Amino acid sequence: MSSLRELAIRGRDLLRGLPRTDPALESRLLLQKAAGLDEIRFWALPESPVSPTVERVFLAFVRRRRAGIPLAYLTGEREFWSLTFAVSPDVLVPRPETELLVEKALAFAPRGEAVIVEIGTGSGAVAVVLAKELPRARIVAADVSRRALETARRNALRHGAAVTFVASDLFRSLGGRIPPGGADLVVSNPPYVAAAEWPTLPPEVRREPRRALVAGPTGLEFIARLIAGAGSHLKPGGRLLFEVGRGQARRALGLFDSRWDCREAFKDLRGICRVVAARRTGF
Ligand code: SAM
Ligand code: GLN
Repeated sequence: MSSLRELAIRGRDLLRGLPRTDPALESRLLLQKAAGLDEIRFWALPESPVSPTVERVFLAFVRRRRAGIPLAYLTGEREFWSLTFAVSPDVLVPRPETELLVEKALAFAPRGEAVIVEIGTGSGAVAVVLAKELPRARIVAADVSRRALETARRNALRHGAAVTFVASDLFRSLGGRIPPGGADLVVSNPPYVAAAEWPTLPPEVRREPRRALVAGPTGLEFIARLIAGAGSHLKPGGRLLFEVGRGQARRALGLFDSRWDCREAFKDLRGICRVVAARRTGF
């Protein structure tokens, strides 16, 4: 029988050459998953023998990873904001750059009993973090994908976060969930990829739900609907905040009409304008 260490090395060598991959790390994570070990137990006994069944499962994971399945779909989880979220092929794998959206939402959220709406919640990562960080806020999270909402609900349960999940095409079915006065904040990591870009995306990104990524011919279609919908669901003075792709911020800012002010864009750690915000004026 091979030891944990030997198998980890074999996996690393098999994963070498995959783009955007740390082969040693991914091999260890897949082996931990196959063997049911956390990191501490993995490092504690690297010479332990691995059963043929675990070895088979591990090598099958490595094969699927080599075929372009995202690591997070194989391990079934991903870290976001230092919490572990369940992910499945029905949801986008939460991205580190989306933490900027959370950071800005926390900065803009009124303290106390705010109402915050997330459009396109996917795994629920953003909504769950907001619920944990703002325990007095009411968080309503929508997604058009019922299967995504199942994963989101599991994540809320796992983290003890009070989030109301609603199956809805943007704001369409949110009627009764937002108070008549409107929400304080609407946040979204919308689909913003242009249809023609889809075939050029890395193969593992194309394993994610197309609907989570592609907005339409220009990439801005969902954002335009988001701005229109948020306009009638925010309180005067409430803010809309959303993520954009590289090079989109200026065009996205141009979609706000005169009923909005305080339009701004925020850069991520790579210096890319990543989050756009605007304030709904009083009328
Ligand atoms: N919030 C998650 C995150 O940041 O990791 C997921 C964001 S993903 C880029 C966009 C999400 O919008 C997907 O979960 C997708 O199912 C959802 N979506 C797509 N079209 C929608 C629509 N018409 N109404 C509501 N949600 C939609
Ligand atoms: N940043 C994602 C990518 O990897 C796009 C996410 C989105 O469309 N919201 O392409």
